[in-house]
Amino acid sequence: MPDHAQQFAALTARVAELESERELTLRLAQTDSLTGLVNRGAFTAALCERLEAAQANGGSVALFVIDLDRFKHLNDTLGHHAGDLFLAEVGERLRCDARPGELVARLGGDEFAVISDAPDAAKRAERLVSLLAQPHMIYGRQVAPGASVGVAVYPQDAADAGDLQRFADMALYRVKLKGGRRWSAFDAELRDENTRRRTLEAELRRAIPAGEIEPWFQPVVDSRDGRIVGVEVLARWRHPVQGLLTPASFVPIAEELDLIGRIDEAVFEAGCARAAPWVEQGLIEAVAFNVSPRDLLDPSFSRKLIGRLNKTALPATALTVEITETFLLQDLALSRRHIERLSAKGIRIALDDFGTGYSNLRALMHLPIQTVKLDRSLICDVAQDPRVGKLVGSMLHAARALGVRIIAEGVEEEAQAIFLRASGCDRMQGYWFARPMPADLMEAALKESRTEAPRFFAKEPARRRARG
Ligand code: C2E
Ligand code: CA
Ligand code: CA
Repeated sequence: MPDHAQQFAALTARVAELESERELTLRLAQTDSLTGLVNRGAFTAALCERLEAAQANGGSVALFVIDLDRFKHLNDTLGHHAGDLFLAEVGERLRCDARPGELVARLGGDEFAVISDAPDAAKRAERLVSLLAQPHMIYGRQVAPGASVGVAVYPQDAADAGDLQRFADMALYRVKLKGGRRWSAFDAELRDENTRRRTLEAELRRAIPAGEIEPWFQPVVDSRDGRIVGVEVLARWRHPVQGLLTPASFVPIAEELDLIGRIDEAVFEAGCARAAPWVEQGLIEAVAFNVSPRDLLDPSFSRKLIGRLNKTALPATALTVEITETFLLQDLALSRRHIERLSAKGIRIALDDFGTGYSNLRALMHLPIQTVKLDRSLICDVAQDPRVGKLVGSMLHAARALGVRIIAEGVEEEAQAIFLRASGCDRMQGYWFARPMPADLMEAALKESRTEAPRFFAKEPARRRARG
């Protein structure tokens, strides 16, 4: 019957329409809207599929991860729209250059990837570098940020998609770190590095509950008379085989593995247990702890810290929490909430490593931050280079005007200490006064300083005479 035939035809057409709509939606969900390339989600799925296929037919898969070199600079100087135009151009170049069977993806930001069965990965990597080194005109200006490439190959380097990505990233990271040639392949050196990190990871997971992470203490002195007025607590790992390790060898990996919170917690508890009696006995006024920018991204960070503090004998007014500026910039609203919550309890906030980043004076005006720690990189030239001297002098002046206390960090020489004292710096910390030390030594030094204040400035001429 014609009626039925018509209805059937209409229905079929509608089904086909729905089907193509569904396909379109699916495609959009897998596409990066700026470049039209495959996005991260679809890339991950495709990589797994290709590895499965390669495993079945004995083939190989090369993964190239690409990161633009000075993209941030381009964005900062020409604006986000120019940045977007450039990313679109990069996408276009990669797409046009792709060989049959290759998959090009934008992983996010200025990061791209190419999956290939390229038999000659080195040649392909070189080609990608030179392709992205070509300049491009934006707003009548020639821009050429350049790109770095990391490569890893299945099955020779990695056995699964997760490792393949991690290894290509490691190779890329090495290029970024070293400079020189703009591409690198995963190799024996990186394999060793990977093994070392995996071992470190397993050991770190064991070390925290085993109590191998311990607090060390470095004195903070009053600039006027050299009296010890506070301590900064610094983490050390008493490794059963490697001996005492400083944070540089375990904090970065702990951050990457999301273990830094547990380290900070362990240092805080043990540090408070040792230092609270020193405050109670009037030996020091303040105890400062470092927290990782990662901890601070946890919305319950300040509440947990206050809870933990309440279980110790340390009064809130004697606690300083040192945070770095990079954290403030990551999430200003969350930073404000944490800082205000801690301040309301009487806990002081110190801005650490000031002078290395943006040195954001606005943050100081708008947030309840009472202390700034001037970074060692500024202090080291303060007495030799008159321009650094002037800069630090005016920073001290500005801080005083804002009612902010300054601690100069990394004071290693008497000349620096004398300069800083004369410029009105309140407090100092550094090897010139004392290196970080374990709790027992710190306690002994504090008790000794009660009977006789250490005389850092008067000591020097005698030392010089002895040497000369
Ligand atoms: P920081 O907070 O800037 O700590 C000061 C660092 O400078 C310490 O290194 C200290 O030993 C060192 N230092 C002090 N005076 C001098 C000096 O006169 N000359 C030189 N060259 N160095 C000096 P350390 O203990 O190796 O700690 C390095 C960094 O690790 C710290 O930098 C801090 O960012 C981080 N860190 C330390 N302990 C912890 C912790 O418990 N948790 C977290 N999240 N990070 C920590
Ligand atoms: Ca610090
Ligand atoms: Ca610092």
